[in-house]
Amino acid sequence: MEQRSQELFERAKRRIPGGVNSPVRAFQAVGRTPRFIASAHGDRILDVDQNEYIDYVCSWGPGILGHAYPRVIEKVQEACAQGLTFGAPTEKEVVLAELIAELMPSMQVSRLVNSGTEAVMSAIRAARGFTGRDKIIKFKGCYHGHSDGLLVKAGSAALTTSVPDSAGVPADFTKHTLVASYNDTESVKKLFEAYPQEIAAVIVEPVAANMGVVLPAQGFLSFLRDITRQYGALLIFDEVITGFRLGLGGAQAYYDIQPDLTTLGKIVGGGMPIGAYGGRSDIMQMISPVGPVYQAGTLSGNPIATTAGIETLNILKADPQIYTRLAEKSAQIAQAVKAAAGNRVTVNRIGSLMSIFFTKQPVTDYESAVSADTKQYAAFFGYLLDHGIYTAPSQFEAMFLSDAHTAQDLAKTCEVMTQYFRTFK
Ligand code: PLP
Repeated sequence: MEQRSQELFERAKRRIPGGVNSPVRAFQAVGRTPRFIASAHGDRILDVDQNEYIDYVCSWGPGILGHAYPRVIEKVQEACAQGLTFGAPTEKEVVLAELIAELMPSMQVSRLVNSGTEAVMSAIRAARGFTGRDKIIKFKGCYHGHSDGLLVKAGSAALTTSVPDSAGVPADFTKHTLVASYNDTESVKKLFEAYPQEIAAVIVEPVAANMGVVLPAQGFLSFLRDITRQYGALLIFDEVITGFRLGLGGAQAYYDIQPDLTTLGKIVGGGMPIGAYGGRSDIMQMISPVGPVYQAGTLSGNPIATTAGIETLNILKADPQIYTRLAEKSAQIAQAVKAAAGNRVTVNRIGSLMSIFFTKQPVTDYESAVSADTKQYAAFFGYLLDHGIYTAPSQFEAMFLSDAHTAQDLAKTCEVMTQYFRTFK
């Protein structure tokens, strides 16, 4: 039953573009009615028709502890009572910046913003200001938010709706964005050879998660580290998804590569709107009011968001075993799927990030990712939804696990997925 969601969706479409405030939520790629959510606790979300689902979207990543984690909610409630926003510095901003620097030592100095999009946009401005160069390299299928210069061969919803580039972005705004192929070192070399003195930075999702999950090939990230140094460009890791998810130190600790700048979002805000960018202090000294690179925000460092972020990071820090548990949970699902589906799907998994691609070939880059069969994915998604399991409404997104996923709910998930592959050969 989805009557109330359907009614709300119709109402929403009259006042909100496509009825949603972020495109992937419209369920367009899977041809179903989006569920309007009433509440969420632990690993479960409840929609307005009282359907309950085991949630593997986890708000696209922030929900690493599970929904409405009691200690985070309590601290947020306390913070709300002290005032929602001051537009002036607070101790919490200092504490969060210190925590980030402690857990991700490459981020010696960081600045808080309100979203991942802002974090990336600002990091790139800092890189350009620092190097005095204009061009950047990004990778096909990587998504870095919706700022003009980065909507070039972007992944995520831009892939889902088959519109890799957006209307409304002047060609002049993207003329400095060079696009290389993920996991293809030659494509990066060629760009550096063509523009040896002009590239300010290479920006990469160290584990790509916006064309579905695609792991970096062995040596790919260290190659990026070396070539950026060689040409005097900066390396930016966009860890909006991987930060505090692959481990306390993010992908940079996992792969032992130090980027010059890092962008964060999602988990660092503990479910509230936050982004952060930071890195080497000599680069971050370029930011206003110290340096000439302007960047600001009315609500940046908001006390409620910083409270949720600090609490979440402290909980993760106090219990690093969480990452082992998360990896075991996703491995359990991956194994069940592989056992039932055989070579009909390719499962890419790292830590608590996973994608089930409906393709027989290995998925290592944009081309192999988009070779996956989106119709088959839509059928799979619909079956799961009808059986109480809520996964990403797109082939090209990750499945997120949380510490709240219970053994019972994981077992149910494995059972339903197994049933699907046994039933639909
Ligand atoms: N960078 C990456 C890797 C992302 O996955 C996202 C969003 O999913 C962003 C940047 C943009 O973040 P936001 O949606 O908070 O603007």
